[in-house]
Amino acid sequence: MLCHACGRRRYIRNSFSDDEVLEEIAARLKCHRCGSGEVELQALVRDPATGFWPAEHG
Ligand SMILES: [Zn+2]
Repeated sequence: MLCHACGRRRYIRNSFSDDEVLEEIAARLKCHRCGSGEVELQALVRDPATGFWPAEHG
């Protein structure tokens, strides 16, 4: 999840149902830091070689 208001990027580990699209999920989320609803969800995948997530910023 990326906040457009403060630039905060954080991972969402909740599982969402398969019939929801990212835009619909993002529409009901708020930034945990600044409270802005201007957030965007980006699908991230683990590195298939190492099993690690990309480094988290912030
Ligand atoms: Zn924010």
